[in-house]
Amino acid sequence: MTEENKTTAGLDFIRQIVAADLAAGKYDGKIVTRFPPEPNGYLHIGHAKAICLDFGVARENNGVCHLRMDDTNPTKEDTEYVDSIAEDIHWLGYDYGPEIFYASDYFQQMYECAVELIRRGKAYVCDLSAEEWEKYRGDSTTPGTNPPGRSRTPEENLALFERMKNGEFDDGAMVLRAAIDMQSPNIHMRDPVIYRIRRAEHFRQGNKWCIYPMYDFAHCLEDAIEGVTHSFCTLEFEIHRPLYDWVLEAIDFPHRPHQYEFSRLQLSYTVMSKRKLLQLVRENHVRGWDDPRMPTICGLRRRGVPPAAIRAFSDALGVTKINSVTDMGVLERCIREELNRTAPRRMAVMKPLKVVLTNYPEDQVEYLDAVNNPEDPAAGSRQIPFSRELWIEATDFMAEPPKGYYRLAPGREVRLRYGYFIRCEEAVYDDQGNVVELRCTYDPETRGGNAPDGRKVKGTIHWLSAAAATPVEVRLYDRLFSVEQPGSGDVDFLEELNPDSLKITTALVEDAIVQMQPGECCQFERQGYFCCDPDSTPEQRVFNCTVTLKDSWSKVCQKENKK
Ligand code: ATP
Ligand code: MG
Repeated sequence: MTEENKTTAGLDFIRQIVAADLAAGKYDGKIVTRFPPEPNGYLHIGHAKAICLDFGVARENNGVCHLRMDDTNPTKEDTEYVDSIAEDIHWLGYDYGPEIFYASDYFQQMYECAVELIRRGKAYVCDLSAEEWEKYRGDSTTPGTNPPGRSRTPEENLALFERMKNGEFDDGAMVLRAAIDMQSPNIHMRDPVIYRIRRAEHFRQGNKWCIYPMYDFAHCLEDAIEGVTHSFCTLEFEIHRPLYDWVLEAIDFPHRPHQYEFSRLQLSYTVMSKRKLLQLVRENHVRGWDDPRMPTICGLRRRGVPPAAIRAFSDALGVTKINSVTDMGVLERCIREELNRTAPRRMAVMKPLKVVLTNYPEDQVEYLDAVNNPEDPAAGSRQIPFSRELWIEATDFMAEPPKGYYRLAPGREVRLRYGYFIRCEEAVYDDQGNVVELRCTYDPETRGGNAPDGRKVKGTIHWLSAAAATPVEVRLYDRLFSVEQPGSGDVDFLEELNPDSLKITTALVEDAIVQMQPGECCQFERQGYFCCDPDSTPEQRVFNCTVTLKDSWSKVCQKENKK
């Protein structure tokens, strides 16, 4: 193994290319990447994968990554989206430096490049209608033929293009085409459109332009103008790469960036197309772009997903050229691992059942030491009140426990987390036969959770002192869609929405939870991770379930598969 192989082993194919370029002394050892979102929607978890790659490669190689708004399509873009994109990138932990780049700032340069192509006889104005063009273009099995506009002289084309720019023709009346190869097996190389007429107000350029460059012409120029060295995009652009290279070659652009393609992230049980996400928001199927069920970065943030979990997820995915659908469970595992390290433990009861400790003094309150995070000694501990009346989880009691159930049952003893052993002496029922209260005794010798006589209990349950329990709103989320790949079959993706993706309930919680600020996360012990929602008011605190503790979903799936 050579020295170089040793250092690049274990890197994904893109990082290997970058390492090899650096080793070969290309680009004077300076790496410039870019993340080029079109500001026509909010970023989603797929973009996060691209961001981690674009910014990650730059950071690892002491390079820079430009945040560039790919704003060459005047109709759907807006500053609202620019602001959200910038915020999301910072939140993910990446720095794009002092300025945001805009493709629209290069419109003049792009125009001049188009003029240069015409001068060199490599672009021409074409006034064929769409139907007429199809006859010349051919298809995947038939080569195309040169359209009539191709025989115009550069002077004629220059004059026509100038008039296009000056607004003398209607929208769609003419386009500028690159004169490449009508016989090319790659249909994108059969004289693609590089400029079109479009009278629409641009959110930054106003009405300055009525002609706009097409993506394939614009993108390589944007990269070249900015001195980008490595331009990463998703696999569907692989077939456009010859055009990317052709444009820069045709005008002899002094700097040559290179495009590399990787497979896009697809996640099960959600959609990622901006058009579909926009539709979910506009038609109120969700509460907004930042609805915690959305795969958007702001939705994940509101749900309580830490940025480190998204970066870890991106690492776990790796960078390849293989298209596949990633199970949502992979993301959830990354979230759990991160929150397990960082989230303080708190006690909350979702389905309360009253416990009365018949041998505990009526008006007494004592304070017990509760560890904040067993994974993080620096998190310390807090004091929680303990008294005669408690709440426990209704599911932690069974009148007739099956084998393997170690929680409370008549005559059974369990440990209260951070507290004492208690024994269930009697269950009190209402007229319908539902348990409404448990009468228990506590063992004063077991404070701290151990019996001096060495007797053991198998179950430890969470609880709250009834006098110190506050109700809060809890939002529980399930998959937004009930099928793995929404919209992939014959039905509209909207019909595959999961009607039970949001359940709103009430939980009783300890004071430390009531005190949490929007955006803060904690673990509700034995249940899951929860994040305080910005909808919270001083009177009504609201919590989003970020992820449950156990992967209940994959179990359900396994069962389904077995069936
Ligand atoms: P649309 O949904 O309209 O196709 P888009 O998702 O391609 O839009 P862009 O704003 O063009 O959105 O994307 C910016 C960058 O993010 C591009 O470089 C694109 O390749 C990358 N990207 C978009 N979606 C994914 C994805 N699912 N996985 C990885 N990268 C992605
Ligand atoms: Mg795109």
